[in-house]
Amino acid sequence: MLEITKQSIEKATAKARIAKPLVKVIEFRRYSVTNRETGATYEVRFTKIGNQKFGECTCPATKICYHISSCLPINAVLASQMHTATA
Ligand SMILES: [Zn+2]
Repeated sequence: MLEITKQSIEKATAKARIAKPLVKVIEFRRYSVTNRETGATYEVRFTKIGNQKFGECTCPATKICYHISSCLPINAVLASQMHTATA
């Protein structure tokens, strides 16, 4: 698991804007990310421990990758919807 911080996702977010991978929701905090050029698909999962967010991806990257950063905006939307639904 890799900790998600503003610093750790900065480069990955920039790469995600260029690559624009296809993100599918498997379930909350679990996503399938496909590279539009190569068709390679990886699975991304998020975990929250206290106030810290962690992400993991099945791709070979050892740092926060653009697959993880691509899922973050969708995860934030789903999290806010769930929060609204339970409020
Ligand atoms: Zn990845």
